[in-house]
Amino acid sequence: MCGIVGYLGNKEAYPILIKGLKRLEYRGYDSAGIALLNKNGELNVYKKKGKVSELEAFAKGKDITGTMGIGHTRWATHGEPNDVNSHPHYSQSKNLVMIHNGIIENYASLKEGLTKRGHTFMSQTDTEVLIHLIEDIRQHENMKLGHAVMVALNQVIGAYAIVIMDKNDPDTLFAAKKGSPMVIGIGKDEYFIASDASPIVEYTKNVVYLEDEQIAIVRRGEELKIRTIKDKEITPYIHELEMELEAIEKGGYDHFMLKEIYEQPRSVFDSMRGRLNSETGHLKMGGIEEYETKFSNARRILIVACGTSWHAGLVAEYLFEEYARIPVEVEYASEFRYRNPVIYPEDIVIAISQSGETADTLAAIELAKSKGATIFGVCNVVGSSIARATHAGSYTHAGPEIGVASTKAFTAQVTVLTLMALHVAKVKGTIAESRYRQLLYEIEAIPQKIEEVLKQNELIKKIASTYQHASNALYLGRGYSFPVALEGALKLKEISYIHAEGYPAAEMKHGPIALIDEEMPVFVIATKGANYEKVVSNIQEVKARKGKIIAVVTAGDHDVKGMSDHVIEIPETDETLVPLVSVIPWQLLSYHIAVMRGCNVDQPRNLAKSVTVE
Ligand code: GLU
Repeated sequence: MCGIVGYLGNKEAYPILIKGLKRLEYRGYDSAGIALLNKNGELNVYKKKGKVSELEAFAKGKDITGTMGIGHTRWATHGEPNDVNSHPHYSQSKNLVMIHNGIIENYASLKEGLTKRGHTFMSQTDTEVLIHLIEDIRQHENMKLGHAVMVALNQVIGAYAIVIMDKNDPDTLFAAKKGSPMVIGIGKDEYFIASDASPIVEYTKNVVYLEDEQIAIVRRGEELKIRTIKDKEITPYIHELEMELEAIEKGGYDHFMLKEIYEQPRSVFDSMRGRLNSETGHLKMGGIEEYETKFSNARRILIVACGTSWHAGLVAEYLFEEYARIPVEVEYASEFRYRNPVIYPEDIVIAISQSGETADTLAAIELAKSKGATIFGVCNVVGSSIARATHAGSYTHAGPEIGVASTKAFTAQVTVLTLMALHVAKVKGTIAESRYRQLLYEIEAIPQKIEEVLKQNELIKKIASTYQHASNALYLGRGYSFPVALEGALKLKEISYIHAEGYPAAEMKHGPIALIDEEMPVFVIATKGANYEKVVSNIQEVKARKGKIIAVVTAGDHDVKGMSDHVIEIPETDETLVPLVSVIPWQLLSYHIAVMRGCNVDQPRNLAKSVTVE
């Protein structure tokens, strides 16, 4: 959460910073701000509540010159989203400015000490306290800024990615991080700093990922220097970016979310590419191979995740138990880390996170690690904190996901988890060869089947228009479709602000059935499979109470069609793979309903992607 960007070079910083902030806006959009140092040594700070476009309008006609600057787009944690709490924040003398992503947990006690020493604060943020502290140390200890940053960061509890600019030093930016991500792009005579590579990719492919507790000293005309907060020198390791510019642009779609929904045949394919060969029956899961014995002997698998990734984890529970006969527990990372969970050294923990930066999931990993468990990551962002904190893992290869509501990351996660479960099953001998081979064929056909569902976009849009004014919705599913019901409800809630609940279809009669009347749309997955007849009975129960049924059915199904208000047909596939196909109609439906209700689909209110705060 929070996007930070910095520039130091020979170009005008403002356009680069604004463009960068727009790319990072998915990380937060409560407010945006910028600081620029012009050639006369004047420091100009502009900040505004709301989107980056509002900041742009505000800065119009003002002095926006300067070849060094920093910018921030905020997801507020401390202090309401208003102009004053927006970043950048000044130090007491106003000579230093800082942007920050994260939370300084001990800000209250630090603030108290600083107040006693005469500091006054303009905002309610934790961020302002840190920049005051840095200046206080610099003045009182008579230190250079870099050292003062180091000393201050040793006093900080919490998470940060910060960039600091000094009015009296037009040639240097200081950047540091712990817990929140930071990438430094190295161009020709210029440097870029950002929360992820998206603001950097069009200028340079050479990047350095800063590690926790490292400080980067970015100086005009000099090589990048990195030191730890314990003052140890580090040699920067330069990575080559693989990201392409097209991947982070809308490419003709109205919204990133729609583009990402349509990318799923590709992203699912990419997530299995090079891993699966149905002809030879070969499944190559690099990350797992080294841990094959561990997986085979695992006492159980614990899956930790948040949000949509947690739903992918639920699908994985069914898959691992069915294919590999290993007991699985799926945990909300935020709950898991704060109880006193029983973790055995023979446990395997699978952590799922699109961004690889989810703070709660990261903390859950550290906890499980300390108990000796083996940790496996399923992340989308290469080189992310979770990818680095785990013992091994498999990337999802969905490409950058920018829409705040996750779509292609979910199907990519389920694809990778399916391959993992099958691989382990094969090694353990818990799956018959014929079934294993048949599943490989079926998985390979999934991208084509998703394509078929996408062709029904117009029909789904029509259904959306019927239910766009609903105030409540119920999503039902059984077995493998239960997690999809949860995911469908989450999608609707997060982007259209309609209250929705996902339920196992059979549980409906234990409560939610009381909600059903002629106003209530009930979205049901009723595909052919073991639970089909049971779900049909649940549909009847809804109909008997005049609820509206919108059903996802297997192509050619007539029975459910006869009793539903609307049906969406999806191609038949193995029951264990249905989530990969059946989630698509729910994604499209939420998208269209949100657009019809005039909601900001890519940046829903109060939310942000990449939840780097706890
Ligand atoms: N804690 C800072 C604030 O509230 C930064 C928030 C964040 O990174 O999400 O302004």
